[in-house]
Amino acid sequence: MIKKGHETRLERAYFDVGGILGEDERMQEVSAKGSIHALSLSGLKERLSGLGHPGYRAEQIFKWVYEKRVEDFESMSNLPADLRGTLGDQFSFHASIPVRVLGSEDTTRKYLLKLSDGALIETVLIPANPALYGEASDRMTLCVSTQVGCAYGCKFCASGLDGWSRNLGVDEIVGQVLRAEALSGESVSNLVFMGMGEPLANFANLIGALEILNAPWGVGIGARRMTISTSGLAPQIRMLAEIPLQVRLAISLHGATDEVRQQIMPVNRKYPLASLLDACEYYSQRKKQRITFEYILIEGVNDRREDALALVDVARKVDAKVNCIPYNSVEGLDWKRPREDRQDAFMGILKKGGVTSTIRREKGHDIAAACGQLRRQKMASTEEVAKEV
Ligand code: SAH
Ligand code: SF4
Repeated sequence: MIKKGHETRLERAYFDVGGILGEDERMQEVSAKGSIHALSLSGLKERLSGLGHPGYRAEQIFKWVYEKRVEDFESMSNLPADLRGTLGDQFSFHASIPVRVLGSEDTTRKYLLKLSDGALIETVLIPANPALYGEASDRMTLCVSTQVGCAYGCKFCASGLDGWSRNLGVDEIVGQVLRAEALSGESVSNLVFMGMGEPLANFANLIGALEILNAPWGVGIGARRMTISTSGLAPQIRMLAEIPLQVRLAISLHGATDEVRQQIMPVNRKYPLASLLDACEYYSQRKKQRITFEYILIEGVNDRREDALALVDVARKVDAKVNCIPYNSVEGLDWKRPREDRQDAFMGILKKGGVTSTIRREKGHDIAAACGQLRRQKMASTEEVAKEV
């Protein structure tokens, strides 16, 4: 809870989900039973056959779950009563409970979700943001998390500050989309795996979730509308190139030389730039698509003229688009975004070098929408209250 008289500007922007959920529901714990959202159609068929039920029941069940968004098995009126009872004994619906919603003027919404072990994750709903892909359209993009915390410890990022706790399960990834849609009343058209965690370090669950999110029997979001972002896990980029979905790939590059990248991203020691670029080329060729380099502009670190020139070289080498993002300040970290004239000069060099580039003036900057920030505030305020008690 936020204490009166001590609120920061960001805390004042919070409002509890109390308006959507009652206090009793909010205090509930998530059931430890596995969620139905963890299973693919073939997985559910297998479970049903083990329970002596025919496979076609799986299609009926998923119609209720993903098309009608029914949240209790008893309402599934075309299922026999014994199956409804068995499903209720074996599965839960939600893998998370919403604890906070943070809204901003441009209607970006940030949801803080509590998992069955009490861990907190976040998912952010961003209305039409053409700069994310460089193509204009009316869309609702959801930014999802894939891990609790992150083990990669990039120096500028809030998600890595508390280290890594665990991978999210398939149901916890899929559940973020269902929660966001139910809470906002919006239909999510695009997904970016740019929340907390390194998606490619949770590879098996990521792939399981992608299948459900994409499938016509599942959430039904087109693979081309999904973007996986990675800090540069070269072997997993090659593995992702082999899956039969045309998902898009974004690389958190942030430095166009080993020297700069190493300074802010420890992962570069394991997978130096040359091996990362090879994997990127492989991905582009295999999927026949252009990848995107994400490049946060950090004052005095990677925003110099020579950084821009180096970025032109690497972007041209793999024919990548570049998406620049002025750094979002993080409480407790000293990095700053460059002034706008410096950002413009940087962009000018990219354009002159013939690189397709955009600059994303972050939506949701005012609500700390960057990676891991809301969770840290919530944990800090919980700790403060605990200390006071
Ligand atoms: N671990 C993956 C997925 C997270 S994506 C990855 O790193 O790609 C989150 C994106 O936000 C990354 O591009 C990350 O570098 C960027 N980011 C992290 N902290 C930021 C900040 N303070 N301001 C702007 N972007 C930030
Ligand atoms: Fe992890 Fe990505 Fe943040 Fe780096 S930028 S610490 S890989 S979430």
